[in-house]
Amino acid sequence: MKQRILLVNESSYLATGFSVYGHEVLKRLHATGKYELAELGCYGDVNDPRRWDVPWTFFPNPPGPGEDATTYGANKLNEFGAWKFERTCLDFRPDVVWDIRDWWMCEFQERSPFRPFYHWALMPTVDGDPQDDQWIATYLNADSVHAYTDWGLEVLRRQSNGRIKTYQAAPPGADVDVLQPVPNKESYKQALGLPPGSLVVGTVMRNQARKLYPDLLEAFATFLREAPEHLRNRTYLYLHTCYPDIGWNLPALLKEFGVGHRVLMTYVCQHCGQSYPSWYADALSNCRNCKQNTAVLPHPSKGVGRDVLAKALNVMDVYVQYAVCEGFGMPQVEAASCGVPVLAVDYSAMADVVRKLHGAPIRVQRYFRETGTPRRLALPDNDHLVSELVRLLSLPSPMRLTMGWRARQAVLEHYTYDRTARIWEELFDAIVPRPAAATWESPTRLHRPDLNIPQGFSNEDFVRWCVAHVAGRPELADGYMSLRMVRDLNWGVTNTGMGGLVFNDASAIGVGSDKEVKKYTREDVVRQLVTLCDMQNHWEKERKNHGQA
Ligand SMILES: [Zn+2]
Repeated sequence: MKQRILLVNESSYLATGFSVYGHEVLKRLHATGKYELAELGCYGDVNDPRRWDVPWTFFPNPPGPGEDATTYGANKLNEFGAWKFERTCLDFRPDVVWDIRDWWMCEFQERSPFRPFYHWALMPTVDGDPQDDQWIATYLNADSVHAYTDWGLEVLRRQSNGRIKTYQAAPPGADVDVLQPVPNKESYKQALGLPPGSLVVGTVMRNQARKLYPDLLEAFATFLREAPEHLRNRTYLYLHTCYPDIGWNLPALLKEFGVGHRVLMTYVCQHCGQSYPSWYADALSNCRNCKQNTAVLPHPSKGVGRDVLAKALNVMDVYVQYAVCEGFGMPQVEAASCGVPVLAVDYSAMADVVRKLHGAPIRVQRYFRETGTPRRLALPDNDHLVSELVRLLSLPSPMRLTMGWRARQAVLEHYTYDRTARIWEELFDAIVPRPAAATWESPTRLHRPDLNIPQGFSNEDFVRWCVAHVAGRPELADGYMSLRMVRDLNWGVTNTGMGGLVFNDASAIGVGSDKEVKKYTREDVVRQLVTLCDMQNHWEKERKNHGQA
């Protein structure tokens, strides 16, 4: 019997980070012929013809013809696969349920009535330290936990006192075929219009709040004032990013720091498709190639090709990743793949990746916190960045090229999908499949809620008793859901968060749920646990019918 593996993901034919990862790994697992693979594609429209090109079983998540769009829209978690999860499980009967997304996208899989039937393999993004306690509680109940970086793995181990079943880092891979160094950097840069002998410091970061564009521009302004004359006269900053977007007012920052004449940006022509570095020339400008007024800064939603990215990265002599935190920070690896030496803030994924790439970490000057998550966030030492830039740009160019060559070798060693797929293969091969009689064909477990609740309980004992006897789910008595119920009873209020039986108040981050606070009593606990019991009974009956069909 082949191992049956279900990946819940965004959809392998899309261009999002999770989608690309899923596609690259599934493709390689599929090629081994060892597994039965399926994908629940959260953004995979039922009418999208690309779903038929996927060589493994594909379950689309959004509502199709005849499906109830109102039910789908009523709960935020449905977008992440919650409403199709049990049905998909019954159809596919996975030995392994596998998810590589953020906590709030996968945590519903813990409460599924079918949870006892599958090995639950997670790879959450860990971008800050510490992680939310609620997230740690969820990961404790997974059967195996990988991470995007060794740094993330270490945070999970430390914060759970080693109790999370951590395995290893399984990072995404770079497209090392498209992202290659050019043979002659100097003539390449001149062909793109840069002056002879110019030096370029660059970055590829979305224009969003956590990317430190103001600090980067301020540090660059300092560099232009204080670096030795032979460097500051010919050094440029290259920002491969977008404006307007969801982050910084870049033109205002260029003006404030007086660096507009030394900052290049990528323009992509929407008419002829040509891309080239240019001074900032408004959000819409005349294309250098076809002369139409159709050149824009590359927006992530426009799906700019990796050839455009390779072109931009190859202009750079030094790459800088400058953010308060990163879950991974793929462009660092992509820069290294093009043979560009990397500098990155010495915190979160960056701390791990920059060392593996033989780059130089930039010291953290201090940490700060934001409301909403417990994470520390880093502010780098801008003066250290300036001195590292002076050091690297002062090197004779053959030395920088040698550093770039080592960076590319490191990518080939650590960041390829062949390597990453083997890491997953190792995990799946080590899982001992359980007989169907103990899982999908096991006797139906129905429970009748016991509403004769003994008197005189403390809130804690009340919840513990009800989880076992009303819901019939004693295994959930020590989990976050129960702890959260006790807390809300003690406080007398609850935050409905994403609604329904989802007790994740911190998870509003990233999904913009409204934070409605409601009165909360023991009657609410009983009502919610009856609903949980009903859900289990419903799906257990479905499982029985399914077996007979
Ligand atoms: Zn054009």
